[in-house]
Amino acid sequence: MRQCIATAAAPPEQLLVAILAEQSCVSTSDLKYATFDLRCELGLWHEGEHADHVWEWEDGMAPPLWARWTADGLLRFECLSWCEAPHLTRDEVCTLFQDHPREHSWNVADPRIEALRRRVLAEGAGWIPNRLD
Ligand SMILES: [Zn+2]
Ligand SMILES: [Zn+2]
Repeated sequence: MRQCIATAAAPPEQLLVAILAEQSCVSTSDLKYATFDLRCELGLWHEGEHADHVWEWEDGMAPPLWARWTADGLLRFECLSWCEAPHLTRDEVCTLFQDHPREHSWNVADPRIEALRRRVLAEGAGWIPNRLD
């Protein structure tokens, strides 16, 4: 399944306030790990709000912080636990939140990554080493 294509921008002041609400201080260097350019991580055509993981607390003190937004631009922040669904065949965890709509992350493909993979394979075909097996 393809990944949702919704994007949004997290207002820096609002994200900082959301972080400080749980964590008493945050350094400028820590903020480089925050996500300001939001891209929905859910599977395409999901129900409800879009979602992007924006912040991981120090020492896992609270569930991860997610930005949730609607098609008409209403944006909020919410702490949501990780999805705990076990992958049936691989040792892989879902990188979405608990009770998320649509597919688990291992079944959601980013079309930009797939397009890049195809382009690199097409343009760099001569660089791929021949396998002798
Ligand atoms: Zn979405
Ligand atoms: Zn999941």
